[in-house]
Amino acid sequence: MKIMVSACLAGENCKYNGGNNRNEKVIQLMTDNDVITICPEQLGGLKTPRVPSEIVEGVVTAKDGSVVDKEFRAGAAKCLEIAKREQPDLIILQSRSPSCGVKQRYDGTFSGKLVNQPGVTAELLMKNGFRCLDLEDLSDRREHRP
Ligand code: SF4
Repeated sequence: MKIMVSACLAGENCKYNGGNNRNEKVIQLMTDNDVITICPEQLGGLKTPRVPSEIVEGVVTAKDGSVVDKEFRAGAAKCLEIAKREQPDLIILQSRSPSCGVKQRYDGTFSGKLVNQPGVTAELLMKNGFRCLDLEDLSDRREHRP
């Protein structure tokens, strides 16, 4: 199977704070499958580390007030281009990110509140018919196996 994953889940230090979200279940999947890693925010031209962002009334905005919508959407478009070329069977994305969140993201108030809406990359990939799985659902599925 070919899978595409958020690069931070694979242990790449592409997170806004310079760290990663390495996940052992994803690492295990990487040993058994063909894997393509993507970081939409880096692909959109943003540097690491960077100021964290949320979607504020439809516009991706960094916590310092700077508008980064163009970069986020450019990164999403590049991920879609890669997905169309590589045709992954499954895409596994980091939870709650303004780019990668599949089920939820922060609500744009920088207060830790969540809304049941996807990030910009997850939304674009799903709109184009790609099967996206939120990391949380991967964890649930695997934890409930006998
Ligand atoms: S954009 Fe996605 S891949 Fe990149 S650091 Fe954020 S959650 Fe991880």
